[in-house]
Amino acid sequence: MRASARLDRLPPYLFAELERKIEEKRRAGVDVISLGIGDPDLPTPAAICDALAAAVRDPSTHGYPTNRGRPEFRQAVADFYRRRFGVELDPESEIIPALGAKECIFNLNLAFLDPDSLALAADPGYPVYTGGPVLAGASAHPLPLEPELGFVPDLAAVPGEVAARARLLYLNYPNNPTGAVVPDGFFERVVDFAREYQLLVVHDASYTELCFDGYEAPSFLATPGARDVGVEVFSLSKGWNMTGWRTAAIVGNRQAIESYWKLKTNVDSGMFEALQLAAAHALTDLADFPREMSEIYRRRRDLVCEALERIGVRVQRPRATIYVWAPVPAGFDDAASWCEHVLERAGVVVSPGAAYGAAGEGFFRISLTVPDERLLEAVERMRSSLA
Ligand SMILES: *Cc1c(COP(=O)(O)O)cnc(C)c1O
Repeated sequence: MRASARLDRLPPYLFAELERKIEEKRRAGVDVISLGIGDPDLPTPAAICDALAAAVRDPSTHGYPTNRGRPEFRQAVADFYRRRFGVELDPESEIIPALGAKECIFNLNLAFLDPDSLALAADPGYPVYTGGPVLAGASAHPLPLEPELGFVPDLAAVPGEVAARARLLYLNYPNNPTGAVVPDGFFERVVDFAREYQLLVVHDASYTELCFDGYEAPSFLATPGARDVGVEVFSLSKGWNMTGWRTAAIVGNRQAIESYWKLKTNVDSGMFEALQLAAAHALTDLADFPREMSEIYRRRRDLVCEALERIGVRVQRPRATIYVWAPVPAGFDDAASWCEHVLERAGVVVSPGAAYGAAGEGFFRISLTVPDERLLEAVERMRSSLA
């Protein structure tokens, strides 16, 4: 048996490797605290579960879904975008469901890339921005997120011949893994860049609803001209504690959505309609639920940042997301050796920044998705491992 060359070209999936290590430690009897994976620890709100239960009993949801989506779902996304972001979307042509942001981002590569073309991918960034292009038989070109620019790429520094081959540009604000929010004026520069090189901007909006300190993340589509050059992938996973449900939507440029739809009609048969109705309920009746979650993450962010500062790690407090992005403490060669040390000496899992791209070297990521007392214990154990 022989697997495809494109599978061989994939780097090992970071979290698969992490899960293996955690399992090994747990089997050895260590009480491992994992701050590695960004998967909310709290359950989906009961009202959303009730909405799903009711929808499951409605026989109109039992057949093959269409990849266009139920009208109720598309309308709920449109209403949410108008109220929350001031963005008007046509439910008929500018919104369709996606089986999670991950599916959508992966399939956009198949829909838009040819072997000699490129996707420009934020570095550090969500691993699918680089793995997806490889699986599509194309390549990813990393765009380092510059800390001194506020963790955005320097678009003016992208070589012309690289930009000319690019068909896709992956961006994500509020950002995983850095926790950065988009600086004023950046989305406008992105629209100009996309116009100049005629590429499709894919803005990954996985964290727009998890913001702190009064900050409210914008939609990329609120930028003038954005709809001509881009789509946004909006996910319920993180904001509504629904990672297992696989509920997201792609919104924006209708031509791009049409291409994605055409591809998907050959790949999957759409989102279970009961899930679409439950997601519509979440966006309509529980639109403010992520604010409650944000308060919990804000408290955890403060716990972690204060504890890190006490051990001499200076961090920028993030104004959004469920992550703290921190520099590797002095005395360690790189992020991998620090993360190895933390796992071996403290039984704590954190992710090395370099796993999200070369530009992430020198940093590590802490996920805030464990209860407060476990979070405090983890940072305390990290402290004693340094003593
Ligand atoms: C978690 C995450 C995703 C995946 O979202 P799903 O909708 O659950 O597939 C996509 N992008 C980023 C940046 C994420 O952190």
